Amino acid sequence: MKITDVEVVVVRQDEVKMIGDGSQDTAIVLVHTDEGITGIGEVDSAPEVVKMIVDAPSSHDQCRGLKSILVGEDPRNIEYLWYKMYHYSYYYSRRSVGIHAMSGIDIALWDILGKKMGVSVSRLIGGRFREKIPAYCSVLMPGTKKEIFDLVNHHKKDCNYHGYKFGWGALGESEEKDIKLVEYAREAVGSENRLMIDIGMRWKDYKYALRVSKEYEKQNIYWLEEPFEPDYLDMFGRLSDNINVSLASGEEYGTLFEFNDLINKGKVDIVQPDMSRCGGITMAKKIADMAMLNGKKLIPHAFKTGILMAATLQLIASIPNADMLEYCAQETVLSKGLVKHHFKLDKDGNVLIPDLPGLGIELNEEILNKYRR
Ligand code: MG
Repeated sequence: MKITDVEVVVVRQDEVKMIGDGSQDTAIVLVHTDEGITGIGEVDSAPEVVKMIVDAPSSHDQCRGLKSILVGEDPRNIEYLWYKMYHYSYYYSRRSVGIHAMSGIDIALWDILGKKMGVSVSRLIGGRFREKIPAYCSVLMPGTKKEIFDLVNHHKKDCNYHGYKFGWGALGESEEKDIKLVEYAREAVGSENRLMIDIGMRWKDYKYALRVSKEYEKQNIYWLEEPFEPDYLDMFGRLSDNINVSLASGEEYGTLFEFNDLINKGKVDIVQPDMSRCGGITMAKKIADMAMLNGKKLIPHAFKTGILMAATLQLIASIPNADMLEYCAQETVLSKGLVKHHFKLDKDGNVLIPDLPGLGIELNEEILNKYRR
């Protein structure tokens, strides 16, 4: 079996708002083979940059475009290909978008292997701990009490989510507002639901963070996510030492090196790799082991389309330390429509984990062709 082509398809909805909503566009990775099997992956990054990294002609042997590294190779040698990509793109790709592009390819390679073997990816990476997973509703933080209540009532209407996460949006503007918005959010979701708050890296001041986090303790926050930018691991560690709320982070990090630092210097309680950015399913599985070794839960970040949700579900099936699925509740055409039969919650708020060959998904060609750029 040989890889014949690696294609990045950029899709984008007609209007993109400058808000923290990555489901407005995406980079779909298609790895084609000589046996007619195509693997599907996705990258949550700057789509055109990902495409350039894949398509780039080789400069010298540490600066090769990813497609040129892969064509002609057997797609079933997934870990070998991961390290081959890492090695031959070393000058530009040890971190950040190079690893993001590799992540989408890695997801597609697992999809190929599953389709070839006739089993789900979760069966290939260790088998299944579970057949379904409780979902939490992930939305942007509105700016007023009424908007928060309207949003929660809208989502409560049809789904019995296991919790709500409010992130980014109106958070991070002032201390008073950060405290008030979370009081409203707790009131809206009720005391029986888990409430998670994602600051979206907007806090810049440690003492500010400490004061607001102490207020959040009173609201029984299930976790506080990404208070600081990812390079400020000392501040993460200090905050973790001084608050009783669980600290969560991981979506900005890639490779085992960065997760080792996040866990040991950042001292986070909940590790959140994004499989389309951390190095793919291959790395996410190792990160899950690293998290378990350190007594941490692993609850992946996934705020994109059904492709990333499918990859996330396969990982969640195969690890002991996951207990919720981030369910991107943004109602964009791509988040809900790019994959046929988008994952829905059952009456108890769980998402069933497919046990079909590969990722178990099929792209909606009509949506793909309508929005491809
Ligand atoms: Mg987040």
